[in-house]
Amino acid sequence: SDELKIAVGAMELADKIVEQVMTYIDDVFMLSDETILNAPMIAEIVQIGYTRIPVYSGGDRNNVTGLLIVKDLALLDPDDNFSVRTVCGYHQHTVKYVFNDTPLAVVLESFKKGDGHLAMVKRVHVGEEEEDPTYDLVGLVTLEDIVEEILQAEIVDE
Ligand code: ADP
Repeated sequence: SDELKIAVGAMELADKIVEQVMTYIDDVFMLSDETILNAPMIAEIVQIGYTRIPVYSGGDRNNVTGLLIVKDLALLDPDDNFSVRTVCGYHQHTVKYVFNDTPLAVVLESFKKGDGHLAMVKRVHVGEEEEDPTYDLVGLVTLEDIVEEILQAEIVDE
């Protein structure tokens, strides 16, 4: 039954990790904080269709510093030529981070507490010995990715 499938899917969240359901970083649509929000750029962003867009600084996609919520663009006058940095500074939506190997059940709990329902996924960068650990940004995960996983459970009938 569908109820059984959903229950099994939910139980499996303890064994699955973020990496298995996230959107890979190369497929994540992001914007530089220097992007100017003129009419063609706003049209392009709306056309792409995502609700939330990670924003990076210093020309470094590994350095995500903010989140642009597309709804925030509704009240913007394109002729003001505001930058993404200015709009993000005004709204200050916080960016959540999770590790690539976090169990989905843990991420689901944190989504239930917060309002974001989106997190950037980072992985420890293995470099030279004795260096302080650094992180690579490897993806993005949302509540949608987890719900999808719950609904997809396959029950093998033996
Ligand atoms: P949206 O509301 O923007 O459609 P959802 O949270 O419903 O986003 O997620 C739908 C799918 O899109 C998920 O697989 C999620 O990982 C992915 N996703 C969300 N935002 C982005 C983005 N900015 N770039 C690429 N993929 C994204």
